[in-house]
Amino acid sequence: MLPSAILNPEYPWQSPDVEPIVRIDRVTKTFGSVYAVDEVSLTLYPGEFFSLLGASGCGKTTLLRLMAGFEQPTSGRVFLAGQDVTDVPPYHRPVNMMFQSYALFPHMNVASNIAFGLKQERMPRAERRERVWEMMALVQIESLARRRPHQLSGGQRQRVALARALAKHPKILLLDEPLAALDKKLRAQTQFELVNLQERLGITFIIVTHDQEEAMTMSSRIALMHEGRIQQVDPPRRMYEFPLTRYAADFIGLVNLFEGRVISQEDDRVRVHSEQAGGDILARHSEPLLPGMEVTVAVRPEKLLAIPGNRSDNDNSDEPNRIRGVIKEIAYLGDVSIHYVQLTSGYVAKFTQSNVQVLAEQALTWDQSVTLGWDFHSCRLLTQ
Ligand code: ATP
Repeated sequence: MLPSAILNPEYPWQSPDVEPIVRIDRVTKTFGSVYAVDEVSLTLYPGEFFSLLGASGCGKTTLLRLMAGFEQPTSGRVFLAGQDVTDVPPYHRPVNMMFQSYALFPHMNVASNIAFGLKQERMPRAERRERVWEMMALVQIESLARRRPHQLSGGQRQRVALARALAKHPKILLLDEPLAALDKKLRAQTQFELVNLQERLGITFIIVTHDQEEAMTMSSRIALMHEGRIQQVDPPRRMYEFPLTRYAADFIGLVNLFEGRVISQEDDRVRVHSEQAGGDILARHSEPLLPGMEVTVAVRPEKLLAIPGNRSDNDNSDEPNRIRGVIKEIAYLGDVSIHYVQLTSGYVAKFTQSNVQVLAEQALTWDQSVTLGWDFHSCRLLTQ
């Protein structure tokens, strides 16, 4: 029988027979009274492009450094490639790390920078030369071999750092904000290059980023961190469409969060009354909820449809998932426009419209009354 990783190569985390490449087992790291990483458990599989995502100070760099061996856990264990490496020093772990600053040696040229780790490992000269050229070819910097770091652009330095980190053929590559020094356009281009490279090499990439778009573009899965803890681990689409907490819904993309109380539940159809939304909301939720329970309903702005004018008096005023308001701001972003709609409760709801036609009449404008509606499958009920 084929191993499940081959049967299901894109989702190894769904295949119970695949051996994890990284296992973090209830790891805590404190600095004085600060819990930088708090009881974190994570399992990663070979060939994943995994992102640690979160706001500044949430503990993602510390978690990466714990994997690299630059930090020792206060409690818990770290397993890499099936081995407990908690007490193993960094240079004996099957990982390499690419630092945010790139940490290139200024007095060495590109080829020597890439060769440095191999030299330390005492790799024979001929083999080393070959490996360095192989790495330079991989990231397309052969023509820069003799240049020093100060003679390179930010993007070129990033490639040198990547080539150096890959030179030892690590099983796992840890990347700390690898694209932070690049401008927006180069970043977008390099994101795809990194993904292509990772797919070609089959190495497990673990990257730290605070940029949700970057994490969404590149990752097989994302771990969202908050205050030292993991909030959710999921592939990008699931993370966006099915956030588990208010924090996750709010961190990734734009969202409307309507607070309310449960009125009733019939199977998986829950009716919520929300003063904030100015009416009732119907949402799906399979777990039982008690009437009166406080919940939040999350609706993404692109799931809302706007109809000019208020609901007429003929409308059934009990109709759920319909809210009224007045457009107060419109942000034109080129591809889409975000409309900010003030509801009677004072809450400002957001909905997006894509700008499909160049010369389209602007159907909706400032100070216009609108009714916003959405399908009950398109919202998410959150209890925490
Ligand atoms: P950023 O995106 O800003 O780099 P981060 O999510 O990577 O943040 P960490 O650098 O892991 O966060 O820091 C987590 C917490 O631990 C922060 O409160 C930070 O101040 C603290 N911290 C990290 N390293 C140390 C250290 N060596 N000594 C003391 N406190 C530390």
